[in-house]
Amino acid sequence: FIIVTVFLWGRGLFCGWACPFGSLSELLYKVGGWVGLKRFQFKVPKPLHDKLKWIKYGIFFGLLAVSMFSMGLAEKLAEVEPFKTTFLVGLFNRSWPYTLFAAGLLGLSIFTERPFCKYLCPLGAGLAMPSTFRWFGLKRKQECDTCKACAVGCGSSAIDKDGRIDQRECLLCLDCMVYYYEDHACPPLAQERKRRTKAGLPLTPIGANGYYIPIKPMPAAK
Ligand code: SF4
Ligand code: SF4
Repeated sequence: FIIVTVFLWGRGLFCGWACPFGSLSELLYKVGGWVGLKRFQFKVPKPLHDKLKWIKYGIFFGLLAVSMFSMGLAEKLAEVEPFKTTFLVGLFNRSWPYTLFAAGLLGLSIFTERPFCKYLCPLGAGLAMPSTFRWFGLKRKQECDTCKACAVGCGSSAIDKDGRIDQRECLLCLDCMVYYYEDHACPPLAQERKRRTKAGLPLTPIGANGYYIPIKPMPAAK
């Protein structure tokens, strides 16, 4: 299932919608905002993010290399995935280094969105690589090249300065797709809404391409 969906929608379907640790991290970040910690929440600056994101690939290939020599050691090192500690054995049923590691990651998730998924998860890295070839991409407009609105809101920092979405980093939260069709948020749409309102023109529905459906000229009266 995961292999098929990675080639269809990228890692985002699993990482964004099915992974229990990713979901827990996301929930903690949201709860942090709800309970008044919003002012302490931060996004890792993009230049630093662009460096840190490679760590997970290093871990992935490191584990792969070790597994060729010693499966036992690879299994131990695979504990970099805190799934076992968090969900199978329980945070307080393990020795303190494991508990500290998992609790530290979950604690950090309150303040920045999904740090483990973005920077450390070898499974995420393994799914990210084939995501390059995913069949269905998210929509973009011509104006996205210069507009930074979606990039600012992307919690995964997956949108680059030219408005392109990095398929390997996108966790398919769909926030940018909400913007895409929102005529109060997406600048080209907002401009067109204002223009039409000022000119007394009707606001037609927004089409699949993210623009207002063109106004059809009225047939001339005979
Ligand atoms: S807000 Fe609109 S134009 Fe700007 S990046 Fe998003 S979809 Fe593109
Ligand atoms: S905002 Fe868009 S590009 Fe960023 S993670 Fe969500 S779906 Fe992917």
